[in-house]
Amino acid sequence: MLIVQKYGGTSVADVERIKAVAERVVRTAREGHKVVVVVSAMAGETDKLIELAYQVSSHPGEREMDLLLSSGERVTSALTAMAIQELGHKAIALTGRQMGIITDAVHTKAKIEKISGERAKKALDEGYVVVVAGFQGITEDDGEVTTLGRGGSDLTAVAIASVLGADLCEIYTDVEGVYTTDPNIVPEARKLEKISYEEMLELASSGAKVLQTRSVEFAMKYNVPLVVRSTFTDNPGTYVVKEDKDMEKVEVSGVAYDKNQTKITILGVPDRPGIAAKLFKSIADANIVVDMIVQNISSDGKATDISFTVPRTDSDRAVRITEEIARELGAKGVSVDDSIAKVSIVGVGMKTHSGVAAKMFETLANHGINIMMISTSEIKVSCVIDAKYTELAVRVLHNAFDLAAEE
Ligand code: ADP
Ligand code: ASP
Ligand code: MG
Repeated sequence: MLIVQKYGGTSVADVERIKAVAERVVRTAREGHKVVVVVSAMAGETDKLIELAYQVSSHPGEREMDLLLSSGERVTSALTAMAIQELGHKAIALTGRQMGIITDAVHTKAKIEKISGERAKKALDEGYVVVVAGFQGITEDDGEVTTLGRGGSDLTAVAIASVLGADLCEIYTDVEGVYTTDPNIVPEARKLEKISYEEMLELASSGAKVLQTRSVEFAMKYNVPLVVRSTFTDNPGTYVVKEDKDMEKVEVSGVAYDKNQTKITILGVPDRPGIAAKLFKSIADANIVVDMIVQNISSDGKATDISFTVPRTDSDRAVRITEEIARELGAKGVSVDDSIAKVSIVGVGMKTHSGVAAKMFETLANHGINIMMISTSEIKVSCVIDAKYTELAVRVLHNAFDLAAEE
């Protein structure tokens, strides 16, 4: 078999752990498999690099930011390859460039356009374990270094698995799989044996960082066989698979939260056609993804407020754009709220169960948690709440939908 194994930051946090990873890799290779390893930077390293950038500049350039951030994964890929060699197995470390990972030019959140993978294929045929630095690529035209957004090594792994036609893509992390909610917040959370791509996608995009959203999107589109499991045990993990009928039996499969959003409100804008279009086009043109939007009905038919949320990392830019437009439109002003969180319930069962959203609202209300914004999809309901209630909301929702482990 051809297996892609991705090891996250905690799995390669120090040399001891890198050595343990090397052992697992070599064990897999000696079982007769071809192995591609994708590594993240050491735990905390990417955050540390970002902090350094902000120590020298209040607005670090994104091109240089990518050059800086990509270095973390170079370190771990080289060390991991060395550790494998030390165990007597052939290994070669490749950067994103050497792996032929071509992306668009949107620095700090580039999209993979193609992967040549020729060099990796040749090395695999020659008996090497190929160790790829995750999270990075280059642009086709001028070879600029790009990164794939936070958590992007997951995407590197899934994309490589797809291009090489791997039999399995294993995501090794610090928990034993995908749980009904973050097990670090709710210890009673239950590990799922399997989860559908659709549910995993909604959980990830709702903040469950166990898998990066785009990596799930990619896996779903190209049917990449995916499993999330622990670096520290041999337990089976969670398979991400196509939806089956069984999965609809429960109303909710998981609860997620996202504390990394900012709510921006443009106050007193004229209530006429074209206003929302103008605002959100400008924000989209800046490559900022808007999540939730609420437009209030104007009481006098003349002016209204529009609130929306964006990822916190983009909030400065989004606020600047919104303020510009507010001025152009003669709006009353712009307000910004950083102390919000989004809690979401996800489940394909929602398609066939009614009253799920109502139960969520009721549960939050019973605990005195006010809802500021709501959005829904076929298999998800999200509420924006005050950030200070995040953990409480996650716990009470997890309870209300009976997600805890069976005794
Ligand atoms: P890595 O560094 O290996 O990529 P991450 O920190 O990105 O690991 O993702 C793993 C973390 O995801 C876990 O430690 C856990 O706190 C968090 N998490 C959030 N939601 C879930 C969930 N539903 N199931 C499992 N882990 C979750
Ligand atoms: N090191 C990057 C990050 O921390 C990418 C990753 O770990 O997947 O976001
Ligand atoms: Mg991750």
